[in-house]
Amino acid sequence: MIKEQATIKITTNTQPKINQIDWDNIPFGKVFTDHMLVMDYHDGKWQTPEIMPFGPIPMHPAMSAIHYGQAIFEGMKAFRRDNDDVVLFRPEMNAKRFAESCERLCIPPIDEALFVELINRLVDIDREWVPRKEGYSLYIRPVIFATDEAIGVKPSESYKFIVFLCPVGAYYSQAVSVKVEEYYTRAAIGGVGRAKAAGNYASALYPALLSQKEGYNQLLWTDAKEHKYFEESGTMNICFVVDGKLLTPSEDEDTILRGTTKRTIVDVAEKWGFPVEERKITVEEIIKAAEEGRLQEAFGAGTAATIASIAKINFRGKDFNLPAITSDFFSQKVKNYLDDLKKGKLEDTDNWCKII
Ligand SMILES: *Cc1c(COP(=O)(O)O)cnc(C)c1O
Repeated sequence: MIKEQATIKITTNTQPKINQIDWDNIPFGKVFTDHMLVMDYHDGKWQTPEIMPFGPIPMHPAMSAIHYGQAIFEGMKAFRRDNDDVVLFRPEMNAKRFAESCERLCIPPIDEALFVELINRLVDIDREWVPRKEGYSLYIRPVIFATDEAIGVKPSESYKFIVFLCPVGAYYSQAVSVKVEEYYTRAAIGGVGRAKAAGNYASALYPALLSQKEGYNQLLWTDAKEHKYFEESGTMNICFVVDGKLLTPSEDEDTILRGTTKRTIVDVAEKWGFPVEERKITVEEIIKAAEEGRLQEAFGAGTAATIASIAKINFRGKDFNLPAITSDFFSQKVKNYLDDLKKGKLEDTDNWCKII
């Protein structure tokens, strides 16, 4: 089958900055590549996509996204292999989630195959920006926002889709301490928690700040109705290992973001024959397991860090310390496995890595 390529207008950056980069000091999310992709929606359809020099975009003061928050985003990465190949990891999952976020926010969706193709073309043009250093990668940020130049709450009739790229360093993170949040909420049933909607992150800032003042890195979110069940850890999905079993909240309710990383971790656990339970996880059972020394591991799962280990959980004023991390932990084995898979050091039997 011959795949027809999408028509893209390409304007090459005549003043590239790639030779000015200090590859040993890349602050996360602050260095941008030479190109970006822009596609506008107006007159009832998505227009011809353009790859152009990275730079500011003009903004009207009444632009609806900044008033009413009709905006969604995605987060994914491209990895460099030792043979110089560049790969994306399960990009079709991001495409699907992006389309679902669009639907929830009344944004006209982008065809999922086109989404993946546009990202391939952009990363290909800036492929020299995909770091060669161990643990480094190219972060990919797709975003769509409403651009109607008018006041009034209604779905916008025009949008801008932008994809830009940031080389990022190894996500060095010490194990974090987290606090179980029983008052503030991230998402409620019927809300937009499942969508990667911009407003979700704004509303989480204040409760997160309060917990930081108490000395915790982030919050363990519980359900909005009863604060009885775990939902997520900061902006990551949450996983526990109790009695040799991987426990993670089911995604049946629309309050939990369906993470590619968490889905992959569950897939790998099943492949390895490691017991998994994806169901409602109560705060009570996890705290009880911690008290009885049966809580072996707790970690957040997401694209930025893959795995963010949790060292301490605070619940109603009491700190519960988790065992020190060792290389035979499930979370460490799965992280190494995924790193090796992305690097092409293992056979990709599930066809998760897509070479650009
Ligand atoms: C992006 C995100 C995740 C992780 O999703 P990945 O696809 O694994 O990166 C989890 N929770 C929230 C709230 C998120 O925004």
